[in-house]
Amino acid sequence: MSTRWIFTVAEMISFATEVRSQSKTLALVPTMGALHEGHLSLVRQAKIQCDVVVVSIFVNPAQFGPTEDFARYPRNPEKDFELLESAKVHAVLAPSVDEVFPAGFSTFVDPGQIATVWEGAQRPGHFRGVATVVLRLFNIVRPDVAFFGQKDFQQVVIIRRLVEDLNLPVRLVVCPIVREADGLARSSRNIYLSAEDRRAAALLSRSLKRAEALAQSGEADAETLKAEMRKMFAAEPRLQIDYAAIVDPATLEPVTHALPGSVALVAAHLGAVRLIDNLIFGPPGSSPEMKLQLALTAPQPDKEGAAAPRPEIDSLRIKIENCRDCAAVTSISLPAREFLFKYLKRDYPNLGAIRVLVIGGCAPIGPTDSPYRNPEQPNLFLTRLYELLGVQSFAEFKASFALTDAARCHAVGNRVDERTLEYCAKHLREELNLFPNVQSIVILGEYAYVQFQRHVLGRERSSIKPFAELLKAEGWAQESVRLPCYGERDLRVLYCYHPTFENKKSPRVGGYLSSKP
Ligand code: AMP
Repeated sequence: MSTRWIFTVAEMISFATEVRSQSKTLALVPTMGALHEGHLSLVRQAKIQCDVVVVSIFVNPAQFGPTEDFARYPRNPEKDFELLESAKVHAVLAPSVDEVFPAGFSTFVDPGQIATVWEGAQRPGHFRGVATVVLRLFNIVRPDVAFFGQKDFQQVVIIRRLVEDLNLPVRLVVCPIVREADGLARSSRNIYLSAEDRRAAALLSRSLKRAEALAQSGEADAETLKAEMRKMFAAEPRLQIDYAAIVDPATLEPVTHALPGSVALVAAHLGAVRLIDNLIFGPPGSSPEMKLQLALTAPQPDKEGAAAPRPEIDSLRIKIENCRDCAAVTSISLPAREFLFKYLKRDYPNLGAIRVLVIGGCAPIGPTDSPYRNPEQPNLFLTRLYELLGVQSFAEFKASFALTDAARCHAVGNRVDERTLEYCAKHLREELNLFPNVQSIVILGEYAYVQFQRHVLGRERSSIKPFAELLKAEGWAQESVRLPCYGERDLRVLYCYHPTFENKKSPRVGGYLSSKP
């Protein structure tokens, strides 16, 4: 496979249309070129998650202020192409400024207040330019998934808002910061640092690490942590600090106490070179992915009160640690398209044969967890599920069942929050349409129950019987429902305990499922 080099919007649109017509998933990695290991980590993640990867290289004039370094921003197209070719990227979109902003272009995206603080305050108009070009790229490429780096944390928060506010049909994946051996975050601008500046620059990440170490040893007071960072900067006169802050990961407002998931942001000048860095506070030993999850999936307080049980937090964490597929922004989860293209097409040549849809709790996206990924290696969940349904193997399972999940992204916290369930229900409703002959739905556990009742059947929370009460007598329960996608026919819904989340076990329902509803 050779990498295709695309210069025009028209050619990109036709390339992407072709990819979609082949039912392949499409990734976009937006960059400004002068590529380094940080960019390549995004590319590698995109290759893991999607069938076709497009990297865009565009030094976007709209995000540079009049006195900034647009003209001298590093550009290295030959080396970029070499790197992307050896990474086996499918296409590189490298448009000219006129191609992206043709004469007459006049519409810009204003990301609002969140774009006016920190980087936004230092670089007025910067995020307006970023949001505009990202939206334009999304509309040209129409990717299923777009990959961004934690390195630009505020940018991630702004793009997430853009995607949510404008209902863009794209999932965002955020990848951890790649650093040099001494901790300096990799950046295209690092090449402009003199040897002395280079040494001084390492202080940025050292100060972040020091704040984290203090926080982990119990010092949560944000003022104390910032004072410690300032003390370190004071020892290095070459470093002109623009800001050093500890903020809430969603609102970017300063916090008084650093909690797991809070983010320390720093920005500094070294002569003419401007550097930014950040660190997400996490429990000792937590991996970068885990910290990203903490920051990006901070549990939303559920105004309507707790309904779902506490999942096995540790196993959830392990799943997350093992699984980069899910290092995604929480509210933009696995779309039905990916599920469909990657697994259903292969395992279900005849979607009409499916009689029973099984809805689990959280997506088992670990490399070995899903039967669709690894059919030969059943885990505890699958073994118990097969027992519940009365099948012996994956081959038998897929002859009449399909498995999906209530939550497709892992929310770290005490429980899957209502918003995640609501968001994922959109995809669930789409999936229901895929199986025209479904007669029964088996719902496993309380998350899926709450989601189905609230967001598929549209029932008020106050009218939903508590799950424990519903299953108390028989260990399972059933009802007959009608869903708009199935017209007038009755659908049988069985509610069972989750095979692994709950301590209780439902009796086998296999025999019951083979009878007519
Ligand atoms: P840029 O070319 O600087 O616009 O960056 C393109 C993408 O790569 C952005 O999503 C950045 O956040 C990401 N990126 C840049 N540097 C790093 C790094 N050191 N580690 C991880 N991602 C990075």
